[in-house]
Amino acid sequence: MTVRTRIAPSPTGDPHVGTAYVALFNMAFARSQGGQFLLRIEDTDRTRSTPESEKAILDALHWLGLDWDEGPDNGGPHGPYRQSERSDIYRHHADLLLQTGKAFRCFCSTDRLDSLRKTQMEDKQQVGYDGHCLHLSSEDVAARLANHEPHVVRMEVPREGQCTFDDMLRGEISIDWAQIDMQVLLKEDGMPTYHLANVVDDHLMEITHVIRGEEWINSAPKHILLYQYFGWERPVFCHLPLLRNTDKSKLSKRKNPTSILFYQRMGYLPEALLNYLGRMGWSMPDEREKFTLADMLEVFDIQRVSLGGPVFDVEKLSWLNGMWIREELSDEQLADRLQEWALNRERLMAFLPFAKQRMETLSDIAPLGNYLVSGMLPISADDLKATGMDEEQLVIALQFALWRLESVQVWQRDNIFNALKAIADGLDIKLKPFLAPFFIAIAGSSASISVMDSMHLLGADMSRARLRHAIELLGGVGKKKLKKLESDYQQLA
Ligand code: GLU
Repeated sequence: MTVRTRIAPSPTGDPHVGTAYVALFNMAFARSQGGQFLLRIEDTDRTRSTPESEKAILDALHWLGLDWDEGPDNGGPHGPYRQSERSDIYRHHADLLLQTGKAFRCFCSTDRLDSLRKTQMEDKQQVGYDGHCLHLSSEDVAARLANHEPHVVRMEVPREGQCTFDDMLRGEISIDWAQIDMQVLLKEDGMPTYHLANVVDDHLMEITHVIRGEEWINSAPKHILLYQYFGWERPVFCHLPLLRNTDKSKLSKRKNPTSILFYQRMGYLPEALLNYLGRMGWSMPDEREKFTLADMLEVFDIQRVSLGGPVFDVEKLSWLNGMWIREELSDEQLADRLQEWALNRERLMAFLPFAKQRMETLSDIAPLGNYLVSGMLPISADDLKATGMDEEQLVIALQFALWRLESVQVWQRDNIFNALKAIADGLDIKLKPFLAPFFIAIAGSSASISVMDSMHLLGADMSRARLRHAIELLGGVGKKKLKKLESDYQQLA
């Protein structure tokens, strides 16, 4: 048997360090077994998936030095490797389950499902589908279909007993069937849900080991049942521990930058970031901290993964990155890296049209453009407050703008402007005073070029990270305050 593993990202946002971490362990396991590793794009959520996000994910993983034997960019014998191009395959498989009575058509309206959920929550019952359409007669179903009534396809799930399975790292896991919902497999528009597409693809792509984050453990019973329904042998499951913030909560962008692009922009070396990800729950047999991908692949043993909740600590990463810079790069190489990173013609050309208007001597470029190559800026809460708003207003403006900017899909000036303008209007603040603290947060000075242009030049990740940093300087947003702000923001939107 050839070991085959995969990473299956959903292209719905920035390339996440967690994706790279899971990809690294999948690749390391496959290579250590003389097997293959593939990449599949899980873009069944058509409203949230974007080609920009897909491209950013592939680029970021390649930048880190990860590569795959098969995928949407390099093809392979099991393609297409993008789920949106495989809908016929999923429909066919849903039909098979309907024919064998393992799945059923459900005509329940959203209203009915909403009120069901509400009652279940009020009665403190397990929330889930109640089997209302499970036993519709075939005549009834035929009549509704002839009538073109909207419906979904759900899988049948036992209500009693337990699902017990082995996890490569965790040993035996048991979950009550009663906790498992009768999952929708095909949505109203005929598109599959993650669960159907994932299982069908893992089977057709001959995946032998499913190595993924622990947040998927509760989905395993549904998947196991689907393998059983189709009569397929199922892969081995392995659920890796989730990455955590330094306070041990699940790694979240509220507390830590999570996008690989942020780390790229900050000037972390891909080798150092990959090295650090390799230390998430895993260590070299000799416990050395600094190692290359090749070193890791040579001795990789998945059983050395410990489940203790690896902490992704940016300070530790910086320390390791410093070692890489000092110990692994000659001055020549460092010069090349700096150019590749940001000190290049392309970056300069993007900035010059703005800088030129303000230059008297060539050396003016340094104070003008300094903030574009820096990491976090040396600003203070007082600098932000000096723009006129009080602390409370500042936090509201920055946080609302941050949320709004997080939904900007194509990071360009006009979209950034529209996002900021919408918040200024919503808060009933004139644009000029509204933008004043953004100049400080983004560029460190009110004398800089337009803040929208700065954000565009800086990129989405660094811009958002600086806004988050400004909010932190103002005391941050605690849990309680966050709730209140979220609801105010909803009202505004
Ligand atoms: N598309 C899922 C994700 O985004 C894949 C989960 C899995 O590996 O099964 O994480």
